[in-house]
Amino acid sequence: MSVLTCRACGRPWDAATAPRCPLCLAARWLAAPDLILDKHDPDTPPFVSDHYRSLVTREFLENRRAYLEYAAAHGSWYFQTFYQTWSHYTPEPLGRSPGVGIAAGEAEPSHGLDALLVADALEDPHVFAVDPIRFLDRIDAGDFVPLKRCADPACDNLRLPGHHSRCAIHTRPRLAD
Ligand SMILES: [Zn+2]
Ligand SMILES: [Zn+2]
Repeated sequence: MSVLTCRACGRPWDAATAPRCPLCLAARWLAAPDLILDKHDPDTPPFVSDHYRSLVTREFLENRRAYLEYAAAHGSWYFQTFYQTWSHYTPEPLGRSPGVGIAAGEAEPSHGLDALLVADALEDPHVFAVDPIRFLDRIDAGDFVPLKRCADPACDNLRLPGHHSRCAIHTRPRLAD
């Protein structure tokens, strides 16, 4: 536990579990113009695709702020090696299942998806639901690399995602007090 105070919004957060202020991060995600792409939107009319696809739930759409604030505080950052971008992963946000999966060649969903992924979470965020077991397999395969701790000796905070080696108080200019 390492409570820092955000220099942008003045609110406290635990930098041992979340590298950035969760409320500022969630606000940034919510403001993203393409946060939910049409192919993941349950309000898009059903269509048959050649590829597997996923939808977020309508419940997620209506409560997206609560979901994303929970995710920003409780989820984990990973570097996605193929795209060279940062992703943010949260299993069972708010204790719920945030999406459903639709098999290739089908129009209707066949199963629930219990985790939330924010892809390209630093630059151009897109949110969708994923299967936790498949995601853990991709971590094992090295497709997603977990965020490391701060390079400062004796600091247990997570380092900031992006081109950083240090946490929010040990980076310069510092982002928290
Ligand atoms: Zn903040
Ligand atoms: Zn540090």
